[in-house]
Amino acid sequence: MSGSLDAIVVGGGIAGLVVARDLGKAGRRVVLLEASERLGGEVMRHTVAGIDLDAGAESFATKTDSVATLATQIGLGSEIVAPDPRGAWIIQADGAPFPLPKTGLLGIPGTAMAKDVIDVIGTGAALRAELDSLLPGPIGAKEQKLGPLVRRRMGRAVLDKLVTPVVMGVHSAHPDTLDVDRVAPGLRAALLHQNSLARAVRELRESSAAGSAVGGIRGGVVRLVDELVADLETYGVEVRLGASVRSVDGTGVVLDGGEALSARAVVVALGGRDSALLSGERADTGVITLATLVIRAQELDTAPRGTGVLVTPGAPGIRAKALTHASIKWAWVAERAEGRHVLRLSYDSPVAEPATTDADLRQVALADASAILGAGLDPAAVDGFARVEWASPVRGAAPADGSGVVRVGGAVAGRGLAGVIADARAKAADLLEGALR
Ligand SMILES: Cc1cc2nc3c(=O)[nH]c(=O)nc-3n(C[C@H](O)[C@H](O)[C@H](O)COP(=O)(O)OP(=O)(O)OC[C@H]3O[C@@H](n4cnc5c(N)ncnc54)[C@H](O)[C@@H]3O)c2cc1C
Repeated sequence: MSGSLDAIVVGGGIAGLVVARDLGKAGRRVVLLEASERLGGEVMRHTVAGIDLDAGAESFATKTDSVATLATQIGLGSEIVAPDPRGAWIIQADGAPFPLPKTGLLGIPGTAMAKDVIDVIGTGAALRAELDSLLPGPIGAKEQKLGPLVRRRMGRAVLDKLVTPVVMGVHSAHPDTLDVDRVAPGLRAALLHQNSLARAVRELRESSAAGSAVGGIRGGVVRLVDELVADLETYGVEVRLGASVRSVDGTGVVLDGGEALSARAVVVALGGRDSALLSGERADTGVITLATLVIRAQELDTAPRGTGVLVTPGAPGIRAKALTHASIKWAWVAERAEGRHVLRLSYDSPVAEPATTDADLRQVALADASAILGAGLDPAAVDGFARVEWASPVRGAAPADGSGVVRVGGAVAGRGLAGVIADARAKAADLLEGALR
């Protein structure tokens, strides 16, 4: 079979599934090779206290319609849902909780003197941030990293108290290490012609789709994986699980066991960490640990901290970096929880390492949830607990190497379903127009 293959797709996360599906749908002969025994990668289901939940990604950005378009094409259009509008909160380094300002982008305020901004950073710092509107546009516009850009335009308080907790929550990395163009495409260009970072933020927000910044799927975003896998079967894509690829070039792949496959096109669809491994780089990244609690706690019915909380590093007595109040954020979770609450806390290493026992993590998660939500949660009221570990994303993994291999997935498209799916579909379309015409 290998000699007659049109495409080999390496990696069965969302990116690989999308490419294999689009190529298969167009009638190409495709084999998808997945190292593990499960498809979906960072999109995965788990069951906690009898409730099926997303164990990895649980929402998608709606700035573009890439996820909604795919969802519609695979039969999930009517299942797209918006989160509860109450929004997220932030806990500052001194432990004080505040609603996250509504008009920001990655925590950068669209209006520095807005009341919800002043509530978090104080009047003095808001006045400093407002200086942004007087500075010439080019100031900061050459900064490659998000941290220095925000610091120069709006001052340290905006960076430390607003941008850092949001960015750490979304990207698991400090803004000083993240490329502006990757996490906020178009922001530097908008800064230059608006002569203000705040106005640039407002411009980008206005250009994005109306309504909430994220969407979900009733029953979990993991349903995207279910439907993509069903499509692979429909379109005759061969899926091989437990097929770990050792090396790739533009004409084929070699599996760990030494088996070689060749095809007209080779697509590598790996997340950042795996891609680094395949290219021989050291990927010493640590883990993100998620602790999910299902708990009976009526005092949480009022959504004391909205849909969830981002924790500023250093907040006293709290080790989690974020908490999602899933049964407030998503109506479908509340329905399935039948009056109980679903809380998902995330931890960066070294706070929680694989060595941390489940019992210890459960205790820490409950204490953190109590502190974050301002409620005394009772250990005896916990109906379910689950722990999931994910590799932290690798930053700066080597992109295309010019060998003729097409690269998609988190390693080249960055973190997040919207970008990963858009990139994967564009490259599948390119192949159908070019090498696989
Ligand atoms: C905890 C968590 C929460 C997240 N939350 C969100 C969210 O709410 N919204 C959002 O948009 N994004 C979120 N993300 C990010 C999003 O899930 C990822 O950006 C996206 O799923 C990455 O897809 P991928 O296909 O690029 O990579 P992956 O999902 O990493 O898939 C790569 C696949 O390749 C396989 N593989 C690796 N090496 C080999 C090899 N040598 N041979 C064969 N196969 C191999 C792996 O086993 C894996 O199945 C989250 C991620 C995590 C971890």
